[in-house]
Amino acid sequence: MEQTLIILKPDAVSRGLSGEIIKRFEQAGLKIVAGRFQKVDRELAGKHYPADRESFLRGMGQKTLENYEKMGADPVKMLGSKDTLEIGKMIREWLIDYITSAPVLALVLEAPHAVELVRKIGGHTLPLLSPPGTIRGDFAYDSSFLANTAKRAIKNLVHASGSVEEAKYEIPLWFKASEIHAYERVEEKVMR
Ligand code: GDP
Ligand code: MG
Repeated sequence: MEQTLIILKPDAVSRGLSGEIIKRFEQAGLKIVAGRFQKVDRELAGKHYPADRESFLRGMGQKTLENYEKMGADPVKMLGSKDTLEIGKMIREWLIDYITSAPVLALVLEAPHAVELVRKIGGHTLPLLSPPGTIRGDFAYDSSFLANTAKRAIKNLVHASGSVEEAKYEIPLWFKASEIHAYERVEEKVMR
């Protein structure tokens, strides 16, 4: 059994897509074991997107550079840097602004291979690369070009832990152990 954190980001909540998104996870057998609707403060947001996770920051920076190259745009002119870490730090600030801008719905989901399964259902970070049938592919209409030009995070509806290690770091940030509940879904009886 694995647990993973998902967050319905402000665009999912404000577009009234919470039910549709949760339905997709539930019908794929993911069990809701914790949930809270909340306005996130900058402290939690800052821990959720940690300033010292260099691989995460550089990954976002790298994606941005590739995007700018594809657009034929100059990252130095638009962002003041072409260093992946510097750009990653900038996007982290945009992300904190985004996730603290309006209430979000955070859930812990549980299933065998929950982390991978949720990522598959959620789709790719960049809406354009998210196939139809995924949450981001079906509902996100943002693009990294629009987001980078406006100097804000890509509005892609959901956060989902990227690995089992990330899930183990993120879940206790958002939920106390006493807020995570054990119970049985009917399928579990069938699978026994
Ligand atoms: P995720 O795990 O698929 O959400 O992607 P990451 O962990 O790499 O990035 C976290 C979030 O940062 C994404 O969901 C986007 O909202 C935002 N983001 C990631 N890459 C970029 C980018 O290149 N430009 C902008 N503007 N936002 C980005
Ligand atoms: Mg991620």
